[in-house]
Formats: sequence, structure tokens, C-alpha cells
Amino acid sequence: MFQDIEPHKFSCEYVPTTPKAGDRVLIYNDAAVLMKCKDNGGFELPTLSDLEEINHPAADGLQYLFSIDDNAFFLTLQKQERCPGFVFKSPQVFRKFEPGWLAFAGATAAHLGQWYAQRRFCGKCSAPLSHKPDERALLCKACGLVEYPKIAPVVIAGIIYGDRLLLTRNAAGTYRQYALVAGYVEIGETLEDAVRREVLEEVGLHVKNIRYYKSQPWAFSGSLLSGFFVELDGSDQITLDTRELSEAVWLRREDIPPAPSGFSLTWTMIEAFRLGQVS
Ligand SMILES: [Zn+2]
Repeated sequence: MFQDIEPHKFSCEYVPTTPKAGDRVLIYNDAAVLMKCKDNGGFELPTLSDLEEINHPAADGLQYLFSIDDNAFFLTLQKQERCPGFVFKSPQVFRKFEPGWLAFAGATAAHLGQWYAQRRFCGKCSAPLSHKPDERALLCKACGLVEYPKIAPVVIAGIIYGDRLLLTRNAAGTYRQYALVAGYVEIGETLEDAVRREVLEEVGLHVKNIRYYKSQPWAFSGSLLSGFFVELDGSDQITLDTRELSEAVWLRREDIPPAPSGFSLTWTMIEAFRLGQVS
């Protein structure tokens, strides 16, 4: 999946280092990230050396994010003017980015970039926030409030009925391939409660035997996805919530198309069912 970057090792412990010339820097302005244009039409994350070349003012104010192997990643929210050879892109650029370990790094850095950008002031007393020295958190020195990075939990449900799996298509957005029932966990719910509620809301079905499968950090929506396989409990009659879904169909194993990639947890789950690894 997207986060599987072996043999590289992602280290999220908050142990800030001094920026080195080859470390990557995410310049996050107005929900976009500055990318360096490559000769072949692709993009790469700028390094600290690149920042010096374009006279970015942040060299002494970089925020440490995380490391992969010996490569540290830093963030700056300081404004960058347009400059030749660089372009601002949506963080979605990391969905199709090579190599995979830098795609994961870029997306994760952008998730943090968004959080830092939206937490400049204390939500309790409006004073400016500053970084807590000992952990990845923002501190209000005026009132003591501490803010941690925001991660929204999401459940994904693979609903099984005999040798069939319920596949859906979203009503909105640009993603047009098959997906599974999914939704955000609400306050006060367990993950299992969220699975039961989302399935009932989106397709009008009752489910039982809720089994955890795998999880995936999904920076593109600021989420942590938890995948479950569940069994149909009762009628297989679908009542579609057309605000969320345009289609929901029961497909037999042999009729499910092979996964286009193992990039997402959704397709990893669909493929696991198609290949008979879960039933
Ligand atoms: Zn405060």
C-alpha cells in the first residue's frame, strides 16, 4: 500500500535535527506545495540547497517534520514568490509520484503542513501558538493550551454475502472506480459502531461479524483508514443513499475486476476478497 516503503524506514518520532543541504523542504502556501520541475516534465521535492538558490527566506526558520532513513523533512509556511523552474501544485501531486517513498513523504508532509497552517493561533484565547520543544504539538504560552496534529478516523467496510462483495461508486468527486462503503467516525462511536451506521446509511443493509482487516494512513484526506470485512445480516436489498453513492452492486468473486494497483486499502481489500484470501 501507499505507506509501505520498505526497505526505507519512516521515523515519526519528534527528534528535530539541523537541516542538511540534501534534506527536503515542503514550502506550503495557500494549500499548495512548491515543486521543482524536472527536465522530463515530472516534479521533485525541493532540497535545502534549492531553497538557497531561489532565495527563500526560511533557512533559519524551518520546522522539522519527520525522517525517512537519514533524510529529514522540513516545512516552511513562509511565502515564496514565483520563480523559474518551480511551480506550486496541489498535494494531490503525490498520488502519482515516483519514487514511492518520496510520494508517501510528500503527502504526509502536506498533511502536517495543512495542520500547521490552520493552527497559527490559539482557539481558546487567540494568542499566537508556538512549537512545543519536546513533542509534535503546538503550545499557547498565554493560556497553556496544547494542540496535537489532527487525524480523522475513517472506516471502510467490505460487505460479504456468500461469494459476493458489495462494490460502490461515489456520487461526487473525481474517483470513478469501484470502492467500498466508507465514512468518517463520529464522536462517541466505536469503529464497529461506525461500520454499522455507515453501511445502514449508505446502502440500507444490516451487518454482523465485523472483523478488522488492515489500516492505512491517508494523508490526502487527513485520515487514518481502518478496513473491516463484515457479513450481511438479513435482506440483501440495497437502499442507496444517492447523496453519497451513484451505484452499489453485489459482484461475485469471478466478476470483480483485478485491482489497478495495491496503492489503496480499498483496493487491497477488494483484491483480497477476489483472490479468496478472505471469505
Ligand atoms: Zn491560548
